[in-house]
Amino acid sequence: MRDHLPLNEYTVKVTVLPYWYQTGLAKILFGLLLAGGIYQVFRLGLKRQLEQREALRLRELDQFKTRLYNNITHEFRTPLTVIRGMNNHIQGFQKEQDIIQRNTDSLLRLVNQMLDLSKLDAGNLQLRKTKGNIIAYVKYLADSFYSLALDKNITLETQYATTEVIMDFDEEKMQYVFYNLLSNAIKFTPAGGNVALKVNTSGDRLVIEVTDTGKGIPEAAIPHIFDRFFQVEDHTGEQGGTGIGLALTKELIGMIGGSIQVKSVLGKGSIFTVSIPIINDKATPSGALMPAKATTAVKAEVLPAYEPTEGSEQPEILIIEDTRAVADYLRLLLPPDYNVRFAADGQAGIDQALEHIPDLVITDVMMPEKDGFQVCQELKQDERTSHIPIIMLTAKADMESKIKGLEFGADAYLPKPFEKQELLVRLRKLLELRALLQAKYRSYTSSQSIPPPTADIAPEADREKEFLQKLILAIEERLSDADLTIPELSRQLAMSDTQLYRKLKAVTGKTPSQFIRSVRLQKAMALLKSSGLNVSEVAYEVGFTSPQYFSRMFKEEFGF
Ligand code: ADP
Repeated sequence: MRDHLPLNEYTVKVTVLPYWYQTGLAKILFGLLLAGGIYQVFRLGLKRQLEQREALRLRELDQFKTRLYNNITHEFRTPLTVIRGMNNHIQGFQKEQDIIQRNTDSLLRLVNQMLDLSKLDAGNLQLRKTKGNIIAYVKYLADSFYSLALDKNITLETQYATTEVIMDFDEEKMQYVFYNLLSNAIKFTPAGGNVALKVNTSGDRLVIEVTDTGKGIPEAAIPHIFDRFFQVEDHTGEQGGTGIGLALTKELIGMIGGSIQVKSVLGKGSIFTVSIPIINDKATPSGALMPAKATTAVKAEVLPAYEPTEGSEQPEILIIEDTRAVADYLRLLLPPDYNVRFAADGQAGIDQALEHIPDLVITDVMMPEKDGFQVCQELKQDERTSHIPIIMLTAKADMESKIKGLEFGADAYLPKPFEKQELLVRLRKLLELRALLQAKYRSYTSSQSIPPPTADIAPEADREKEFLQKLILAIEERLSDADLTIPELSRQLAMSDTQLYRKLKAVTGKTPSQFIRSVRLQKAMALLKSSGLNVSEVAYEVGFTSPQYFSRMFKEEFGF
């Protein structure tokens, strides 16, 4: 076909220019852009990686710091606690002891505050709520401030709009808040002043007001009063403190969903108002302040460590305390199956102790009729009750009474407001002591087996020995008399049957009839070894009416 076309041809030269993006320059530009982009992406990735690494490093550093801080504060706490404990064992040097105690206490408080703050920052401070009557708890806390106020000649007034508000609350945190507000109020109020604690409810909130007629807070300082480490400038320089107290108080109140406010007039006084929600969650376990039956949590804390001796019932505890709130609180702290009796004054306490011979006595110091010292002295001097461990309760500030109490023979001291855990540990330790006591006296079953009194042992320590000596002699006197009865024995010892039973059980772990049998068998052993008598003769000689029964018991006692 082409061949038939005319031959005159034109040649048209057409130059097709490249699109702009196809030019070399564009390509170079694209190349550059691409390289730039890749570089940017790479850089961003690198930056993010670096940032992540930095964040991780910071977090690790932070954790390290918190750990270090925690460890160091903990390390402070242990030796401080030891110093505080040892201080209580020093004889004499009362003034020096006082100073050591005051200083270790304030250091310990500071260390605890610091620990709490760091836990709070790390989000590790947890709420441990239990359900209970918060009014009873507040009353109990307030009770320990009366003597502090009295010492400074300040009147402490309390007003409760109601006697019961059941709610979920964290006892430890509440204690901290109260301690801080009340001790500040007392600290910043001059002698002759007045501090008032009022507890009210308003809708579904509990409102607590601490009012004082103290020195007040300058207006400019009020907005900062809850800041950490803030202290109102004080030119006298005698104020002390660290400025942690109110900051921590506010944070703790915040944790429980509450709020705190302050109103203050310089030179007139201050009012701190705390408002916390009344919450009742079904899942919250009942705490120490609920009726005794519900305190399974407390029970679990004590029972595994306290092993009752064979055949013994739950411990019987006598609480001598004239303040109802404290007595109730104590009752509710103790395991529910403990047998607890109450006495509202010293004399009633002594009477009850003599009647029932409890396993342990917890007594207040300041009481009507007879005070705690007299209770302690009388019980420790009476043969029927001398073995009973006594825990004394005292206000924190009152160091002198502590020393006095120890002199009167108290076995342990608990400053109010005491920690639940501390009380339980003390209790356990004292009840464990009973097992030691029993191990010591178990071998005392004949008048020969009792070592003579030694000059270097305090007479109190020998009192149980004396009692056993008397009892054994009374039994040995009538050894061959098969009719010897327990009432006869108790009468001879000037005790009631119950007193003899409970005392003997506490000291030796044996009932009177078991004890009489042991004394008889001990003598039998001696006779079998030294006399020419045969088994039946020995059996009659030591008051057994049947040689068979004698043999069985003998085997049981000595294992052969
Ligand atoms: P601190 O542990 O040093 O007592 P707080 O945080 O408890 O610290 O208190 C901070 C400051 O607030 C105190 O130094 C004191 O000046 C002032 N303050 C607290 N409570 C009162 C009060 N009830 N009356 C007067 N000033 C108070």
